[in-house]
Amino acid sequence: MDDRGNVVGAGADVIVIGAGVVGGAIAYYLSKMGKSVIILEQDEVASGASGGNNGQISIIDREPGIELEWANESMKMYRGYEDAGEFETDLDITGGLALFYNQEEIEIGREVVKKYSDLGYKCSILVGDEIKKQEPNINTDVVMGAAYCGEEGRLNPFSITIGLVDMAVSRGARLYQNTKVIDFVLEGNLIKEVVTDKGSFLGDTVVVATGAWTRELMSKLGLDYRIFYGRGTLMVTNPIEPCIKGPIVPGCFAIGTLYEGDWNLLGLTQHKNGTITIGQDTRAVTNYNKGVSYDGTIGLAKAFAKHFPNLKDLDVVRVWSAVTPHVEDSLPIYGYSGKYPNIFMAAGLKGALTIAPAAGLMAARIIMGETDDNLVADYSPTRFE
Ligand SMILES: Cc1cc2nc3c(=O)[nH]c(=O)nc-3n(C[C@H](O)[C@H](O)[C@H](O)COP(=O)(O)OP(=O)(O)OC[C@H]3O[C@@H](n4cnc5c(N)ncnc54)[C@H](O)[C@@H]3O)c2cc1C
Repeated sequence: MDDRGNVVGAGADVIVIGAGVVGGAIAYYLSKMGKSVIILEQDEVASGASGGNNGQISIIDREPGIELEWANESMKMYRGYEDAGEFETDLDITGGLALFYNQEEIEIGREVVKKYSDLGYKCSILVGDEIKKQEPNINTDVVMGAAYCGEEGRLNPFSITIGLVDMAVSRGARLYQNTKVIDFVLEGNLIKEVVTDKGSFLGDTVVVATGAWTRELMSKLGLDYRIFYGRGTLMVTNPIEPCIKGPIVPGCFAIGTLYEGDWNLLGLTQHKNGTITIGQDTRAVTNYNKGVSYDGTIGLAKAFAKHFPNLKDLDVVRVWSAVTPHVEDSLPIYGYSGKYPNIFMAAGLKGALTIAPAAGLMAARIIMGETDDNLVADYSPTRFE
């Protein structure tokens, strides 16, 4: 450090930018494989989408292929962290519901359910009172049907994100919080220095796991990765006795119809500690403001009361919002940059809590040279370069 407290020339094999669940998982595996790692986080660990989400394991909104394999593999890895005594994940496979409000949605849902049943998932369409077998408290006057997926469940996003980063640190990774990457210094087409508001860092490889902030950061290098973001509002109740069995999402998540801007749509999870997070509405935005709106807060509360009238008197203790990225073509931006070959991108992974361990392990293996990136060629950042 210099006499103004700035870091000068700290170096590592790999610099990971972003301490969300994706950056955390990559740092976890790289440090486990013996690489020296520096993690740079503009705010605090889990301050982005990874600390602001619903903690749901989402399966039937994923196309069959590598993403679905990552989801399956990640569940085993989450159990592994707990079995090894590394950190708690609160993993609980409860089965989950995607809610439908009209016959047309149910019919599209049947196709989706068939696709996943054919792949061996425990999926079915529930209609009317059948839904109450999974969720006895749900109001079937409002919900007409649901897609059930037996492999869905819940996780603790805070414990997981902090746990992954803590484990990386325990293996020697150096974590710099409140340290924002603001620029890069090039040598030819390689990143030589990662410039932050606290000084410069040197690394052989730079992993960019900056979620919703990715497009802005990569514009410093003249790149225009087509990654945008939306803000979701969530609220959390006081802990109560178990009354909601598994994660619930709007059916449009599963059948891919347009949903933006409807406060009536609801996603929720009751967590291991008894609290219920209620949220899901996500609207496209162009700023990172974490504030919440009156309309959003009231809209969510009303939607919850409509779906769960028995629970309408619950106390809400906190409301917040979080920004989460989505890529123009709906695929992650994952793999080495073609233009700057020592940058590895890991951004825009949908529902990343569900897939981060396996996606992080694969990233680490590619960086270690243990595997190539053929399996994830469709996700290559080069498509935007
Ligand atoms: C309302 C809501 C509900 C959701 N529900 C679920 C769910 O139930 N299940 C699920 O699987 N997923 C869910 N998601 C999505 C999930 O939260 C994200 O996919 C996941 O957290 C993304 O992880 P990440 O590490 O890529 O991004 P983030 O967690 O956002 O991490 C990126 C980090 O990079 C840091 N950063 C950015 N720019 C810089 C810079 N220049 N310098 C240094 N640091 C920087 C940020 O501060 C941030 O901490 C939800 C998202 C939202 C918003």
